[in-house]
Amino acid sequence: MSALSNAQVVHDDTATVFHSWSAQGKLNPLALQTGHGATVVDYDGKEYLDLTSQLVYANIGYQHPRVLAAIEQQLAQLPTVAPAVSNDMRARAAQCILDVAPDGYEKVFFTNGGADANENAIRMARLHTGRDKVISRYRSYHGNTGAAIVATGDWRRMPNEYARGHVHVFGPYLYRSEFWAETEAEECARALHHLRRIIEAEGADTIAAILLEAIPGTAGIMVPPPGYLRGVRELCDEFGIVLIIDEVMSGFGRAGEWFAHTAHSVRADLITFAKGVNSGYVPLGGVIISPEIAASFEDRVFPGGLTYSGHPLACAAAVGAIEAMRNEGVIDHARALGCEVIGPALAELEAELDVVGETRGVGVFWAIELVSDATARTPVSDAYMNSVKTALLERGVVPFIANNRLHLVPPCVITADEMRRALDAVAEVLR
Ligand code: PLP
Repeated sequence: MSALSNAQVVHDDTATVFHSWSAQGKLNPLALQTGHGATVVDYDGKEYLDLTSQLVYANIGYQHPRVLAAIEQQLAQLPTVAPAVSNDMRARAAQCILDVAPDGYEKVFFTNGGADANENAIRMARLHTGRDKVISRYRSYHGNTGAAIVATGDWRRMPNEYARGHVHVFGPYLYRSEFWAETEAEECARALHHLRRIIEAEGADTIAAILLEAIPGTAGIMVPPPGYLRGVRELCDEFGIVLIIDEVMSGFGRAGEWFAHTAHSVRADLITFAKGVNSGYVPLGGVIISPEIAASFEDRVFPGGLTYSGHPLACAAAVGAIEAMRNEGVIDHARALGCEVIGPALAELEAELDVVGETRGVGVFWAIELVSDATARTPVSDAYMNSVKTALLERGVVPFIANNRLHLVPPCVITADEMRRALDAVAEVLR
């Protein structure tokens, strides 16, 4: 056990660190010192099964030896190198990503994370089409940036002469249908009709891109109904719109696939990624670019890039993580956990308990929607969710809470036994 205690670390941390997404006067963070596999350990030596993967990114789990070794080797060789310089590790990372991506993509643009991946994908789409608007969903999260390039004054801001419109639509979400739908097929057809009407009302020739998470993540883990993503692709083809699929959270094993949208037989023009690409051991994100869009920038400058884009330590971590995932069959494992362990256990809970309104997901990407009135589908209170959180922590499980939902998003490497233990704790608490 370390000489440090939870109390000491939380005290020092909250005294000096301004926390993101938090009221600074109400901080009550977990203090974590180390981890292994799907287990994290606090400073008092207590072990927890991690149902969060931090912010849904530690897909390979903690202290994976192959990822650590890859970073250490690159550190010894060259710890940093600018994006304009050629470096073997960056090229290897791009190749590893293309190897697991759907066929036909040839280029990867690197960023430091998911928000900047989406920012740059949007700029590519705007420049490629010469149009300005981006359609995305109300229930979505694509990152927390945006003002910086609009505030920039010199030539680098110029693509933002297009950066005006953002239009939001409702996506399919049968449990809380905006379309009075009663079946998944109805929900899908009506959501596509709604999208078509918005495109027509906005003017198809003003719309550069439709930006969608393959499976909305923090907004609720709504796996799209069969045909929805293909329907969006058809609308994009009909109207010359770029389809950007955000795989930042859903990619690299989370949904039991390398890229969740491939299960829906749909092709994106741009795929954004981050998180699971290297499990966040060193920050990395990027855009996988279709040959058509890459060709747009053969003879003109793409005005985007970041000082640390494609950082060699991050790229080394990506090479290590992707190789480890391939060698260890992590994607198949995640898919099987969803089908054989998590899905069946949650279906039982949903049948047994009124408080469980709906459970949904795939792979190691699941949501339990908790309601105080099963008929009206009224979300439970924040106080209820806080009590769920406390009870799970007491039982050695770290939960991911999003409004009235408990998300089960453990590292993809969690074992079936560990997952059963965590599910037992969830069931006990909800009962
Ligand atoms: N896109 C999705 C789907 C995400 O879930 C997130 C983060 O949670 C982002 C983009 C933003 O990524 P980052 O926080 O690395 O900027």
